[in-house]
Amino acid sequence: MQIKRKTNFENFKKAKKISPGGVIKKIEKSGLCGRGGANFPTGLKWKMCKPSKYLICNADESEPGKFKDKFILENNPELAIEGINIAMHALKAQQCFFYLREEYSKFKTALEKIIKEKSEYDIQIVIGAGSYICGEETAILNSIEGLRAETRHKPPYPNEFGLFGEKTCINNIETLCRVSLVFEDDYENENILFSISGDVQNPGVYEEKQGITLKYLSEKVGAIDPKAIFFCASGGCLPFQKDLILSCKEIAKTGNFFQTGIIFVNHDRNIPDICRSITQFFNDENCGKCLPCREGNFRLLQLFQVILERKWTKEEFQIIEDLIDFIPNGSQCGLGKSSTTTLKSAIKYFKNEFDKLIE
Ligand code: SF4
Repeated sequence: MQIKRKTNFENFKKAKKISPGGVIKKIEKSGLCGRGGANFPTGLKWKMCKPSKYLICNADESEPGKFKDKFILENNPELAIEGINIAMHALKAQQCFFYLREEYSKFKTALEKIIKEKSEYDIQIVIGAGSYICGEETAILNSIEGLRAETRHKPPYPNEFGLFGEKTCINNIETLCRVSLVFEDDYENENILFSISGDVQNPGVYEEKQGITLKYLSEKVGAIDPKAIFFCASGGCLPFQKDLILSCKEIAKTGNFFQTGIIFVNHDRNIPDICRSITQFFNDENCGKCLPCREGNFRLLQLFQVILERKWTKEEFQIIEDLIDFIPNGSQCGLGKSSTTTLKSAIKYFKNEFDKLIE
């Protein structure tokens, strides 16, 4: 398990012997892609950002079903700090902000101790404002600047006009850990952290290669009578199929978005009811800036509340199907754009469960 391997900060020493441009080339050659969800090539991002005044380490993990950042903070925060050191050197950055989800503020003291002992850079820890949207890269900028954590229009992108109007590079905490690991001889680029929860005997975080089958994973975690898997709240869902390959490319073919938080669901559970909880989440967590996301998710939630008392009319179900397309099309950021992905795939793959709820 590479991400748990303790570091003696030798990787940073190796990186410092190479020029900033050389480090970026090495990261590019490694094939490392961001582990925050977007999967953007890290070396390319750094090339576009260099030189950056600021680096932001994003540890504002709030997606339901994802807890890998917490795992890193609990088990190997040193590796994240080493990755930051390497990134600061490569980007010639002057200051780093370590943006920590409010619920993870208990890790602040330990992080500060590591920073004091192991980093020569100015790294400040910022406690998040306590909402899901803060993890979006432009909302983070607003939050650190002391503004309301709403997203910004792009362009300009943070690498052009970021924090306090300066060039800024934003990387997820797992990505920064992997930056450090790139300097190890046995670096495995395909390794990712899976957060496993739901109806399983052994929930937790597993480091596995991208491209494993669902059969392999379900046996390893002890899935109990699996009917479906959900890719966190925003990635969609699929019926349980043993030969499903867990990779960005293969999951994209199903119309879903590969999220490394996998929630197993057994046959006793009701798929529309899970979709109602997910809609509640997006209704609570959207920042309210755009009407389709704010009002659309609210209307969806109202319609889900109807079925607690009676069945939907055909017209009501049609409104749900219309909103599934209307909300992402009119939304500015990833939260709104992905807020109906799971509902859409649930209706596609579990239509029989929705049909039972229509008059
Ligand atoms: S899509 Fe939703 S979360 Fe994103 S900016 Fe608009 S209202 Fe806010």
